[in-house]
Amino acid sequence: ISVQKGDGPGPSAVLPRGGAPGIRFEKVVKRFGANVVLRELDFTVAPGERVTLIGPSGSGKTTILRLLMTLEKLDEGLIWIGDDTLWHMDKGGKRVPANQRHLHEMRKQVGMVFQQFNLFPNMNVLRNLTEGPVRALGVPKDEAVERARGLLDMVGLADKIDAHPSQLSGGQQQRVAIARALAMEPRVLLLDEVTSALDPELVVGVQDLLRDIARGSDLTMLCVTHEMGFAKDISDRVLMFDEGQIVEEGPPDRIFGEPSEQRTRDFLQAVL
Ligand code: ADP
Repeated sequence: ISVQKGDGPGPSAVLPRGGAPGIRFEKVVKRFGANVVLRELDFTVAPGERVTLIGPSGSGKTTILRLLMTLEKLDEGLIWIGDDTLWHMDKGGKRVPANQRHLHEMRKQVGMVFQQFNLFPNMNVLRNLTEGPVRALGVPKDEAVERARGLLDMVGLADKIDAHPSQLSGGQQQRVAIARALAMEPRVLLLDEVTSALDPELVVGVQDLLRDIARGSDLTMLCVTHEMGFAKDISDRVLMFDEGQIVEEGPPDRIFGEPSEQRTRDFLQAVL
């Protein structure tokens, strides 16, 4: 099986530049019932920075991405995207949820790619890419189609524009899912175990594409992965998580080369 590489115009020609917001978690607490998944979590991601979250299963990594997508509600603390927060303080200093319009504006800045692709199965590739921009953002149809073509070119799937997801390999579906996320013109891109569901021979192609996107754009990226080579490749900084807290953080060379915490050493020994 040949791993197709995007032969299109390259990310810098297709993706917007400038003005990517940073992210800040401030004493964020998230519980599922009695299970405290995030414990007063503090961290920041600078505008345009690529940060990878690593750590054992169940340590809260996916929950962080889902909170940023507003797919989950936080229990305490604040989450900032640029100068906006998912919560406001009222006059009495009480936290109240941001209003719907405000949430919508924030949400528009964030795109996510999931482990299981989550393409619309009853729509062809083109509509998978245009549906969101047209319906949710009010982009004129012909503009959305033009942009979709550019993105499909970039991910090397221009010839699949009329195909349905079921006619595509897992790797191709994930490329479409990446293009679909980018079609919404997010400034923050969240990647949740994006190669875990792929056959091994398809992993490298998708990773190469994401690396090109990371290098050819100024998106702020937050990535959860168990692929340590990919983490090393794509990130400016790695955060090691355990039990809803950051155990240590640093540039990938240091975290993978000379981790200072025993929990990081144990984790890396188990996955490498
Ligand atoms: P990771 O991504 O590090 O594997 P997750 O963020 O997926 O961790 O999960 C953290 C913890 O939260 C786990 O204990 C998981 O069982 C729990 N959890 C996640 N989502 C839900 C949910 N919707 N309902 C109940 N518990 C959940």
